Amino acid sequence: MSCTKRFPLAKARLEEIVKTYPTPFYLYDERSIVENAARFKKAFSALPFFKEHFAVKASPNPAILKILAREGFGADCSSLPELLLSGMAGITGEDIMFTSNETPIAEYRKALELGAVINLDDFTHIEFLEKYARIPELVSCRYNPGDRKTGNAIIGTPKEAKYGFTREQILEGFRLLKQKGAKRLALHTMVASNELNVEYHIETARLLFELAVEVREKTGVRLEFVNLGGGVGIPYLPEQTAVDYETLASGVKAAYDAIIVPAGLDPLGIRAEWGRAITGPYGWLVSRAVHRKSVYREYIALDSCMADLMRPGLYGAYHHITVAGKEDAPLTETYDVVGGLCENNDKFAVQRKLPRIATANDSGVANGGDLVVIHDAGAHGRAMGFNYNGKLRCGELLLRPDGSILQIRRRETIEDYFATLTMDAVESL
Ligand SMILES: *Cc1c(COP(=O)(O)O)cnc(C)c1O
Repeated sequence: MSCTKRFPLAKARLEEIVKTYPTPFYLYDERSIVENAARFKKAFSALPFFKEHFAVKASPNPAILKILAREGFGADCSSLPELLLSGMAGITGEDIMFTSNETPIAEYRKALELGAVINLDDFTHIEFLEKYARIPELVSCRYNPGDRKTGNAIIGTPKEAKYGFTREQILEGFRLLKQKGAKRLALHTMVASNELNVEYHIETARLLFELAVEVREKTGVRLEFVNLGGGVGIPYLPEQTAVDYETLASGVKAAYDAIIVPAGLDPLGIRAEWGRAITGPYGWLVSRAVHRKSVYREYIALDSCMADLMRPGLYGAYHHITVAGKEDAPLTETYDVVGGLCENNDKFAVQRKLPRIATANDSGVANGGDLVVIHDAGAHGRAMGFNYNGKLRCGELLLRPDGSILQIRRRETIEDYFATLTMDAVESL
């Protein structure tokens, strides 16, 4: 079985890059990200005032944000540092959607100062904003449809999710916001994560459109836009199929024509805040195989670990793995591919069929094992990294369209790891 999942570099070029940037590292393919962004934009261009706010948490690097900003993307932020990252990429004002939750006042104040679109996560935040900051001209509210929508594995069922307003609170919230001086109002939802079913996303749009009509009827508020959120999945498994943007966009357009147009609410702006589907398939974690261990199972140990990519350990998520130069080799072995964290769920793959992988001992060089590529790590990958066990997070490289490599984040150093320690306190003890 040869795999359809691609990695943009041949083994020889990768070995050359590793001389300058030792493994492990993340590699992102700029050309593929731009092409994907352009396809996405084209498909959704039929929708009125369509705007994508890339979810910064998926890939919080200003270089990636800048590449996307050039394609007309804004940003979706949920913390103060994410607001600042967007600014570093030149994304400002209403191109930023501030979809935070449990938000402290300092973060609301910063978002207001930047002129970002404030997307309230709770009814009580109307009073909170008014008391401790101010109600801006444009306010969006996040809707939690509860029983009206089933959820999925990563985000849970909406009824059990901590996010958003109930339907009654949405209606009351828009009345209150209008009364308190908000002039422009918008509606948002985010009900799924990594969902590949197109119909699921179209139904979310339908739900928001119907609510927009109800808001108009019951409160007199004519919404400026609805934000469909993110949560569009990517085919992590080789046998899965990617969401077809045209099918999704034309389904949303059909719902718009059936619900919004007859209600006299056209034009209603449409926004989205996809993260995973925009960069996920175009980023890889590149590591080297260090050891092979034969006990009750066969293990391959990499020089990266769960602290670099936690999705497999956290959710049991599948990430495809290939070996540089052995892309078409027969899958003769069954390995658990693991990292060096003192946690037994530090496994990138469990009982995975792979070609025979050469380790340091096989090669006769301490750093001579095979280069192992973990696919679909371009979103919620490096971003979810952590420092447990004193693991230093790896850096990020960008493969430019001309084939050159640009380092967009260096790897962490021991100095970074120690930077927050107060050694004066330690010495005073
Ligand atoms: C995480 C998140 C997104 C992006 O989700 P993806 O699954 O990466 O598309 C968008 N909006 C909100 C509010 C989120 O929390």
